[in-house]
Amino acid sequence: VSIVDLLRRPADIIGADNNAAHSGIPLPTDLYRPQRENSHGIEFGERKALDALTSAIAAETKPASGAVATSTIEQANAAVAAARGGFKAWNATPAAQRAAMLDKAADLLAQRRPHFLALLQSEGGKTLDDALSEVREAIDFCRYYAAQGRKLFEGETMPGPTGESNVLELHGRGAFVAISPWNFPLAIFLGQVTAALMAGNAVIAKPAEQTPRIAAEAVALLHKVGVPASALHLVQGDGAIGAALVGHPAIAGVVFTGSTEVARTINRTLAAKDGSIVPLIAETGGINAMIVDATALPEQVADDVVTSAFRSAGQRCSALRLLFVQDDVADRMIEMIAGAARELKIGDPSQPSTHIGPVIDAEAKQRLDAHIARMKKEARVHLAGETPAGNFVAPHIFELSSASQLAEEVFGPILHVVRYRAERLGDVLAAIEATGFGLTLGVHSRIDDTIEHVIERLQVGNIYVNRNMIGAVVGVQPFGGSGLSGTGPKAGGPHYLARFATEQTITINT
Ligand code: GLU
Repeated sequence: VSIVDLLRRPADIIGADNNAAHSGIPLPTDLYRPQRENSHGIEFGERKALDALTSAIAAETKPASGAVATSTIEQANAAVAAARGGFKAWNATPAAQRAAMLDKAADLLAQRRPHFLALLQSEGGKTLDDALSEVREAIDFCRYYAAQGRKLFEGETMPGPTGESNVLELHGRGAFVAISPWNFPLAIFLGQVTAALMAGNAVIAKPAEQTPRIAAEAVALLHKVGVPASALHLVQGDGAIGAALVGHPAIAGVVFTGSTEVARTINRTLAAKDGSIVPLIAETGGINAMIVDATALPEQVADDVVTSAFRSAGQRCSALRLLFVQDDVADRMIEMIAGAARELKIGDPSQPSTHIGPVIDAEAKQRLDAHIARMKKEARVHLAGETPAGNFVAPHIFELSSASQLAEEVFGPILHVVRYRAERLGDVLAAIEATGFGLTLGVHSRIDDTIEHVIERLQVGNIYVNRNMIGAVVGVQPFGGSGLSGTGPKAGGPHYLARFATEQTITINT
């Protein structure tokens, strides 16, 4: 099998995506294919399905162009006040009813899939396969939190002496601020919002300023399925609006996905407030590493590295940034990875054959171009692809003499490789630890002791062994990191909803 054959073919995704939506927990994993199996080997009558889907997307009316009005600080403050007003009634709505609304939202998303795919492509620059997995993930978040919420919020009888009844109940905290990123403008946006709503909070959602329309449509969809306007408010704007929301004295919690630096600023703002202590749930970035030793299967490594580093133009928190390859096999591995990466098609994301669409905006491109220019001077260049005009960045592969040359997260399709000697694996683990991040980690090895040793030694949120390291599946691979990568709990995991809630113990002398 050539590397080209191993590369993701968009047509395969269509069939795999049909298995996507699930209901209830535990997940029927036989119906629900984890991401890596989507990428190859699944044969369907896909050409027809692909054609039908692309024409359905093309038939969608293009969203109006032009800027979306940003909210004023007064409007942001008013949204908090209105959410406070809406909180009581929403919190008193039975959890089963709130869950039913989320299930309806999932159904409606599935029904309107071409519309959301079109939006993700036009506003988010997503390729077809990225857009498909994002809509699927959004649907999964709705259904998963609904299912979790039904269990968690029904109240639990606690043991105790006779003559007393003891019940533990979970409730919403109040007006909850949700600040989401542009890289998953539908899935992460809805994941945060539906979790906060399911827990009984009234929500003020502030999406990234780059993707306001997708957020507006997602909010409209939730309103349509019954979430009252008073319980869900949308505030549009940049960091200044986010700061106003976070600094508002009456908010009860913040959920944030974005940079470590902004998470710290939010944390400081919350800590400096008088009054109640306001919790922060933050999912931030990572300098994610993969370790490949001499026992790894080269073809699989090439496929998994290309997917992990370059899919979604590297614009995932989970993406691979730092690849450690054992020196005996390094030349061959790097050559295969570069060869596979050369086959990737960069360009118009609405073309089903495109593997890499644009980066999010001109500013992102500038930042990445500056990093590439620096690397060209400081590192050995293994791949520097041709970049078409526009906000595109071709895949690049640079070899560093030391991992410390990469001091920060570079959010694009740029892979950094470091060679290591087998007896120096300890140094590799120390270098990974020294980044301070702990989001994702890949290991390619056929030696159980090595795998176990790495897993035991590193505190990383999501560890992937002998596969790619992106595309965590809701309810299957709960996602999120520690250290500089976030506070936990994991999105799409069983402990997420509880952190949006307060707990109340009611003891009655009977
Ligand atoms: N959950 C996504 C993944 O596993 C990444 C989310 C993010 O980029 O924030 O690839």
